[in-house]
Amino acid sequence: MSPRIRVTRQGEAIDQVLRTAAGFRTAQDLYGELRNQGSSVGLTTVYRHLKVLADAGEIDVVHRPDGEAQYRLCSPAGSADPTAIQDHHHHLVCRVCGRAVEVDGPEVEQWAERVAAAAGYTQISHTVEVFGLCPQHS
Ligand SMILES: [Zn+2]
Ligand SMILES: [Zn+2]
Ligand SMILES: [Zn+2]
Repeated sequence: MSPRIRVTRQGEAIDQVLRTAAGFRTAQDLYGELRNQGSSVGLTTVYRHLKVLADAGEIDVVHRPDGEAQYRLCSPAGSADPTAIQDHHHHLVCRVCGRAVEVDGPEVEQWAERVAAAAGYTQISHTVEVFGLCPQHS
């Protein structure tokens, strides 16, 4: 087995776990799930693959209040209207299980543009995630 094929296979295994996860998962969570499935993928590979996907914009990253990064494949398969999910969106994230709801916030977008323009800032971006307890954990 050549190294190249191995990397691809491990990447596919990671993609598969991301696809089946309902919520945001840390690299450690994903690593644990892969091990449970009998995969021999290493934690370093998981981190590296997640970073590549995140840099390419293929998965979403949120940072928990404690700073740990969590990852999720957005635009879930089976969504009735895939075009309803914009590239730029926000999340409601459960603090317990990582379950996420995609939300958009036109008020937030307008507010960000307004305060930035008022201060003379251009090329702005922002990150807004809302953490709480999902209906199952309230
Ligand atoms: Zn998302
Ligand atoms: Zn929950
Ligand atoms: Zn926004």
